[in-house]
Amino acid sequence: MNHFADQLWQRLTGIMPGELQQAELGWLATPMQHQTLLARRRATLIVNRVRLFAFLFALLTPLWSVVDFVVFPFPLWIDLAFMRFAACAAFASLLIYYRPSGNLFDAYRAMAILFAIPTVFYVASRTVLGSYQLTGISAAIGAGYAFLPFVLLAGLSIFPLTLLESVVVASPILVAQLVGGYLSWAAFDWPSFAGAFWLMMLITAVSSLAGMSQLAFMIALVRQAIRDPLTGTFSRRSGEELLDLQFIIAKRNNLPLSVAFLDIDHFKSINDSFGHEAGDKVLIDFTSFIGRNLRRGDTLVRWGGEEFLLVMTNTDRSQAEAAMARLRAAGFGPRPDKAPLTASIGIAECGIDQAGDWKSLVDLADQRMYRAKQGGRDRVVSGEAPATTA
Ligand code: GH3
Ligand code: MG
Ligand code: MG
Repeated sequence: MNHFADQLWQRLTGIMPGELQQAELGWLATPMQHQTLLARRRATLIVNRVRLFAFLFALLTPLWSVVDFVVFPFPLWIDLAFMRFAACAAFASLLIYYRPSGNLFDAYRAMAILFAIPTVFYVASRTVLGSYQLTGISAAIGAGYAFLPFVLLAGLSIFPLTLLESVVVASPILVAQLVGGYLSWAAFDWPSFAGAFWLMMLITAVSSLAGMSQLAFMIALVRQAIRDPLTGTFSRRSGEELLDLQFIIAKRNNLPLSVAFLDIDHFKSINDSFGHEAGDKVLIDFTSFIGRNLRRGDTLVRWGGEEFLLVMTNTDRSQAEAAMARLRAAGFGPRPDKAPLTASIGIAECGIDQAGDWKSLVDLADQRMYRAKQGGRDRVVSGEAPATTA
C-alpha cells in the first residue's frame, strides 16, 4: 500500500515542473508558509498580470459601445456607454497608479480592484437591461452581458494563486451571480440558472487548477534561482533582494544589521595545485562549516567565486565581531594539503557605520576585507579599530 502511494506520488510529481518537493506541496493550498522571496516574486507577478488585464479591459470595454450603439435603443445605449466609460476610467487608473511593490497585500488589493470593477459593471448593466424587452439580435447581445462572470472566473487562471486564494477571489463573483438571479426573480428560470451556476463552479475549479499549476512552476523556478547550485547558499541576486528588504526593516525599526564579507585566503593556489574539483569541494566544506555555526535569521550569500557575504539581522558590531571570532575558532575546514583554511573578513554595521543604503554597507565590508588582506590575511577588520588577528 505504501509502495503504491510512493509510486503514485512519483508519477504525480513527475508531471509537475521541476519535481515539486513534498514539503512544497502544501504551498499550493495556502500562502501561509511561502518564503519571503517567493512571496515577493509572486506579488510582483500578480500585479503585473493585473495591469495587463486592466490594460486590455480599459481598451475593450469602451470599444464594445459601438456594438451596443448598433443593436440597442438609444436610452439604453447611452446608459451602458456611461457605465462603460466609468469602468474604462477605473481600469485606466488601476493601470496608471498600481506598480509592483513586492508586497503581497498590495497584490491582493490590486486583484480585488480588478475584479470589483467588472462585478459592479455587471450588476449595474444587468439592472438596466432587465427593464427592457429586447428581441432578436438585441436580445442576443443583451444576453451576452450575462457572460461577464464567466469571463472573470476564467480570467482567474492567469494568476499564480493558491487554492485558498482562488476560492476567496471567486466567491464574491459567485455571490454576485446569485444576487443577479435574485434581482431577475420575476423572470426566474431555475433550470437554466442552476445550469449556469454549475458551469461557473466548473470554470472556477479549472481556473484554480490552472493557477496552482502556474504556482508550482513558480515555486520550482524560484527555488532554483534562490540557491547557488554548488554550495546551496543564497545566490547573489536573491541575496541582494533579501539585503534590500532587511536594510529597510532595520532602518524603519532602528535595529542593528551587520554584514560580514568573507574572502577565502589563497584559494587560487588550491585550484592550481589540486585541481578545480578539489577547489569546489573546499567551497562546499567552507559553506557547510559556516552553516553549522549560523544563528536563525543569519543568511549566507555566495557573492562571487570564493567570496561570501553573511547577513546578520538584529546584530550590532560587537555581536558580529563575536560571531566572526566564534566562526574562526571553529574553523573553516581543512585545505586539501590539511593546512587550515583561512579567510579575510570585513564587517560593517548599518547604524554605527551610517550606511545610507545596503550597497554602501556591502562596499564598506568589502573595503575592510581588502584591508584584512593587506594586513596579512586570516583576520577580521571592523570599524576604525586596528585589525584583530587570531
Ligand atoms: P586572496 O588570498 O588574495 O584572496 O587570493 P585568492 O587566490 O583567494 O584570490 P583570487 O581572487 O586571486 O582567486 C580566486 C579564485 O577562485 C580564482 C577562480 O579561479 C577561483 N574560483 C572562482 N569560482 C570558483 C569555483 O566555483 N570553483 C573553483 N574551484 N574555483 C573558483
Ligand atoms: Mg576574491
Ligand atoms: Mg580569495
